[in-house]
Amino acid sequence: MSINFNWNPDQLDFHKSVVSFAQKELNQELIEKDRRSQFDQDGWKKCAEFGILGWPIAKEYGGQGLDPLTIILGLEGLGYGCQDNGLVFAINNHLWSCAVSIANFGTEAQKQQYLPALCDGRSVGGHALTEPNSGSAAFDMETTAIRHGDYYLLNGTKTFISNAPVGDVYVTFARTNLEVGVQQGISAFIIHKDLPGLTIEKEWEKSGLRTAPMGELVFQDCKVPADHLLGKEGRGHTIFQSTISWERGFLFASQVGAMERVLERCVSHAKQRQQFGQSIGSFQGVSHKIADMKMRLELAKLMVYKIGWLKKEGKRAFLESSISKVFISESLNQACQDAIQIHGARGYVTDYELERELRDAIAGTIYAGTSEIHRNMIATLVGI
Ligand SMILES: Cc1cc2nc3c(=O)[nH]c(=O)nc-3n(C[C@H](O)[C@H](O)[C@H](O)COP(=O)(O)OP(=O)(O)OC[C@H]3O[C@@H](n4cnc5c(N)ncnc54)[C@H](O)[C@@H]3O)c2cc1C
Repeated sequence: MSINFNWNPDQLDFHKSVVSFAQKELNQELIEKDRRSQFDQDGWKKCAEFGILGWPIAKEYGGQGLDPLTIILGLEGLGYGCQDNGLVFAINNHLWSCAVSIANFGTEAQKQQYLPALCDGRSVGGHALTEPNSGSAAFDMETTAIRHGDYYLLNGTKTFISNAPVGDVYVTFARTNLEVGVQQGISAFIIHKDLPGLTIEKEWEKSGLRTAPMGELVFQDCKVPADHLLGKEGRGHTIFQSTISWERGFLFASQVGAMERVLERCVSHAKQRQQFGQSIGSFQGVSHKIADMKMRLELAKLMVYKIGWLKKEGKRAFLESSISKVFISESLNQACQDAIQIHGARGYVTDYELERELRDAIAGTIYAGTSEIHRNMIATLVGI
């Protein structure tokens, strides 16, 4: 089997244009936005105009219809160029757990209704799975959706939901059959924020990703028309499994970009900063940290490119997405901690914008399944 490790000239131009767009348009006043936990509405619109919100969606629904491998390269460029990791996270959340789920499982009418606005920036998407009593054990959910004729009645609370305070449409999971197990008993719904009986409550304040708002969806006898069901009744588990293999695979391509940005800052600082009459990069204690960072970065790239390639071939990439998710999120955490150490006090203060990178990175080992849960899944997939 021959393997081609080259990107074609169009893909390289695309990557370059994404980096230059992000660096020019998305990095203004970040320290202040982070301090105020401010979602960048303007940046969101610019990303929509640039086409990012439609990258994986077919042109007939207002998207760009890019192939998965090219999208991986684009997301890497976005993560590298855009220092607003919260905005990048909000975009990925919107794309993979909302827009792509509707594109993959929606009826023709649902796709026509929701996708154009999700692509052109009028709607912000999210997904609502986690509940106060079900986090890692997500399918122990208590939210119910009981059918009454042509509607379902939803009751329950979804918490830690990204984009909720600014969102419009949520792919939401609820128990539709209490008599059977999760494989058949859970369904997915497309929920618009204006449905009576739904309130968006509580905006969580967070240590990192502060520019990506997070809230709670409370359903109290919320009447959801039956045609808001996404896929067939009882297929929520299957939809979720598909969604997460996209989300875990693609979201972390942006973290690869962020890791490269952090590495470059370390190389530059290690060369410039002089102590004991020489650059600190000449001390092995510093240079080996940077060498390790580079090794992890290159391995992370191979993982996300493989996922892009598998998805392009129409494969599931379930095991690869878990491996990649754990490896990249933990590598980025390590890179940010090492970057702070290498920068000394400069790494620790807000002005140098490295402590924010660490605060943003920490969440990566928790959301989209914790590192421990992914290690459990990897162990199961290798037969333990
Ligand atoms: C920034 C951010 C954004 C998020 N966005 C969303 C969103 O948009 N939509 C959504 O639905 N949810 C979202 N979440 C919630 C996220 O999915 C959950 O936090 C995650 O699934 C873990 O659940 P938990 O926080 O309840 O932790 P718990 O499940 O209570 O876990 C606590 C600890 O116990 C460990 N643990 C639990 N079970 C096991 C086990 N079987 N083996 C080993 N260790 C175990 C965990 O790994 C963890 O270390 C978000 C979370 C964060 C931090």
